[in-house]
Amino acid sequence: MLTDCIFCKIIASVIPSDKVYEDEFVLAFRDIAPAAPVHILVVPKTHVASAADVTPENSDLVAACFRAIAQIAREQGMEGFRVISNSGAEGGQTVFHLHFHLLGGKQLPANLL
Ligand code: AMP
Repeated sequence: MLTDCIFCKIIASVIPSDKVYEDEFVLAFRDIAPAAPVHILVVPKTHVASAADVTPENSDLVAACFRAIAQIAREQGMEGFRVISNSGAEGGQTVFHLHFHLLGGKQLPANLL
């Protein structure tokens, strides 16, 4: 756990969150500022800073996140959804702990930008 990482603090239950899913490797909770009717953040419990920091040694965590995403989407009754991972300040990342935004609950626009 990085002591100055807000998602590490959520994983450690130091900061509360609205949890929707948890397993050995992954925690998922509702985004505090939702951009869609369903907006869930899926994060590995091990600290990885961003998608730019995924390596052969830690990429199993990414697979675990996507297994969780598929399960959460089914449980939430999402017919379709979008997964976004912002990486780096220029990529719009504001929390530097790898996470996947799971967005849906409405017809999403085709354009991303
Ligand atoms: P990003 O800008 O891609 O790094 O996404 C960070 C996301 O974390 C934003 O959508 C924030 O709304 C969300 N966020 C920040 N703090 C919290 C928190 N304490 N609980 C839930 N979501 C949070």
